[in-house]
Amino acid sequence: MTTRFIFITGGVVSSLGKGLASAALGALLQARGYRVRLRKLDPYLNVDPGTMSPYQHGECYVTDDGAETDLDLGHYERFTGVPARQSDNVTTGRIYQTVIQRERRGDYLGATVQVIPHVTDAIKEFIRADLTDEDFVLCEIGGTVGDIESLPFLEAIRQFGNEVGPERSLFIHLTLLPYIPTAGELKTKPTQHSVKELLSVGIQPAILLCRADRPIPESERRKIALFCNIRQERVIAALDTDTIYQVPINYHEQGFDDQVLRWFDLPCTGEPDLERWRDVVRHIRAPEGEVSIAVVGKYTDLLDSYKSLIEALTHGGIANNVKVRILWQDAELFEAGDPVHHLEGVHGILVPGGFGERGTEGMIRAAQFAREKRVPYFGICFGMQMAVIEAARNLAGMPSAGSSEFGIRAEPVIGLMTEWQHGNRVERRDVDGDLGGTMRLGAYPAWLGDGTKARDIYGQAVISERHRHRYEVNITLRERLEAAGLSFSGLSPDGELPEIVELPGHPWFVGVQFHPELKSKPFAPHPLFQAFIHAAVVQSRLV
Ligand code: GLN
Repeated sequence: MTTRFIFITGGVVSSLGKGLASAALGALLQARGYRVRLRKLDPYLNVDPGTMSPYQHGECYVTDDGAETDLDLGHYERFTGVPARQSDNVTTGRIYQTVIQRERRGDYLGATVQVIPHVTDAIKEFIRADLTDEDFVLCEIGGTVGDIESLPFLEAIRQFGNEVGPERSLFIHLTLLPYIPTAGELKTKPTQHSVKELLSVGIQPAILLCRADRPIPESERRKIALFCNIRQERVIAALDTDTIYQVPINYHEQGFDDQVLRWFDLPCTGEPDLERWRDVVRHIRAPEGEVSIAVVGKYTDLLDSYKSLIEALTHGGIANNVKVRILWQDAELFEAGDPVHHLEGVHGILVPGGFGERGTEGMIRAAQFAREKRVPYFGICFGMQMAVIEAARNLAGMPSAGSSEFGIRAEPVIGLMTEWQHGNRVERRDVDGDLGGTMRLGAYPAWLGDGTKARDIYGQAVISERHRHRYEVNITLRERLEAAGLSFSGLSPDGELPEIVELPGHPWFVGVQFHPELKSKPFAPHPLFQAFIHAAVVQSRLV
């Protein structure tokens, strides 16, 4: 089958869940037996979101091939199971970087380099690049229609649609119908304006997804259809749901996948197989118990920073038939006082990834509390490093143990990675290097020791997980730390880089240098999250 391209834009306001809508449509098409690929075009000037603060942009999602991408790629992967790649996320910054490099090389043969056609050509190249016979490529355009910065992207997809024709392209627009209590009505005007805005750049959307907090009356759908020049059955309600995993089911019930297939003249007889989604939702809605997990981090004001983590904990709950209640704890609060009253009674403690010194003493205290009180502890990346510092200080007699990430330390048990093996290559870094794209990024294998908890949890000796870090646990301290009770249960294949540490004899104390949350799926919970939540369930029976 030839590849068809679906473009998803958003209007009225941001945060309507365009990423989720794209991911859910991907899942629906997949459930009908099609091969899908999802991509995101982001209008900002950063080359990638790797250097952006989690407070600004939320989580940075890392792919197997080491790209630092937008968090929507996490949704795509969780919903479709298709591993995202570097080539699935592009920004204005990267497009301009490419165009300017070409200009410097002289590739444009003396032409005046312009937004149209040079920038729009580069965008279209990206849309087509690195495809392998997918039936559908879904491209989400970041930002909101009407923003100055998204104009080149809209122009590029307009051209693209014109070039491949309507039989191979489809424009979907996601908008909001706000409910005005004094009028007692859902309002359609913002949607009308947003579609007008799209029309002004030459794009007539064929399907509208309308977010609303209540059912949309037929009369309003008729009105939207009339004013926006869209068939009424293609005005699809996107109502709020109790769980995001219900979204593909709702969309199907609203006829979304049918309308997409009809647009392309593809058969839409029969039902898509949505059993896996129904099963996930059943588990989420009818848990047999509840566990509380304290997440001690520093970006707790913007929960988008922990998007994949939250989902992976939910998946761990699904696997154990329990609801996971997350208690967000600002690590800085623990620095001043005793964390005991915040942590007493929780069934598990998780310290997630992070950067910079602020809050770290609090995280170290949380790890100490978990170790001493025998509460399940899960340290992810930074959380592993903090657990190692805690063990070095309090078990191995190194009172000034710290990380060189925070400046010069007398006992840097965590130090800058200056050299590591990447396949057949050796990667090298130094203190003065660039910050963007230079961490140890993406999938690396790790070997798990016989008889360790890690080996038992994974049920295999070699694993591959995604990384995003600049610092590492100092391997030369292995003997000393192991003698003190902290076991190095997972190592890089050359034995140089600690990947997993654990405390034998503790009910569940595991720190990992990688980000397992990135690979967890609702229908395939990650083994570490499954095991951690299981340990929390056991703990909940003790307290
Ligand atoms: N700041 C730490 C490092 O760079 C941990 C990074 C992380 O948690 N992703 O190694």
